[in-house]
Formats: sequence, C-alpha cells, structure tokens
Amino acid sequence: MVPFYCENKHTGIGSAIEYAICVLEVKVIVVIGHSCCGGIKTILSLKDGADDSFKFVEDWVGIGLSAKRKVEDEYSGKPPEEQCAFLEKAVVDVSLDNLRTYPFVKDGVDNGTVKLVGGHYDFVSGKFDTWKATTLADRKMDSDEKRLRTGFDKFRTEVYDKKPDLFERLKTKQKPR
Ligand SMILES: [Zn+2]
Repeated sequence: MVPFYCENKHTGIGSAIEYAICVLEVKVIVVIGHSCCGGIKTILSLKDGADDSFKFVEDWVGIGLSAKRKVEDEYSGKPPEEQCAFLEKAVVDVSLDNLRTYPFVKDGVDNGTVKLVGGHYDFVSGKFDTWKATTLADRKMDSDEKRLRTGFDKFRTEVYDKKPDLFERLKTKQKPR
C-alpha cells in the first residue's frame, strides 16, 4: 500500500520511491495486490471508533479506507470473499492515485518517463491481472460516458421503441409539423 505523499510520515516508503525514480530512473511502477490478503481482511474488519489492536497495522491499512467505502456502497450484502477480492484491487487503485501525489512521480507520469500499472495476483487460481493506471479525471469521464449511454438506452427502450408513431416523421425524413 502506498500512502499519500507526506514529508514527515512514512519516510521509508517515500525514500524508496524517490530513490527508484530520481536515481535508478525506474520507468514502470507496478503495484500488485494479492488474494487472501491479511491486510485487506483487516481493513474490512476495522470498526469506527474501536481501539487499535496493533501498534502499526491499523494506521498502515488505513491507507485503503477510502476503497473500503466503495465496497460498503457497491458490495454490501455480498459474501466476505467477494468483498475481499474487490477490495484487493480497489486498494491497488488507491495506491496508484497516491503515487501520483509524489511530485517526482507526477512529473514522470506527466512527461511520459514513468508508467504506473496496477496488478493482482490470485495465487489460488493462478491468475495474474494487470491494468493501466487511470487518473481520477479518466474515471470521471468513464462514468459520465456511462451515464450518458444509460440515459440514451433508457430513452430508446422507454420512449423510442414504445411510441413509434412519435418518431415516424423523423424516420421517413419528413419535416415535423
Ligand atoms: Zn497482503
């Protein structure tokens, strides 16, 4: 899990990323989640306001809390294994977003010298997925497009197909009255 950029917290991970990009000139960063992840199970079991049972773990897995909210919205009522599988990938996306908050990573992505890739290793089924990191703006565009398409599909099935007489003139290219 990659935390949000902060100069005086998680300095270990900050230096690892900075050294990789600025000195080793790493071209691709792959963030890989995996099946049966204890960290992901811990995120799902965190209760609001409860005391921490560990010294570090809660703080660390808390990085993925925003993705947990997505699970609660979209996967509530689903079996825990399904929630875990979804969260294993969603937390990778959070890490990829957080990577872009490091100025040297953002610069690299913006000028095309650094690529960010998401991955998930399911060692139960032996499947390995990868995907290109998308930006929040890309995802907003995708959801706008989906909304537009859903709106059009709805119009087509609920109005266009049900009331053909309304559109007869358009179909035969006559001028509307
Ligand atoms: Zn894990």
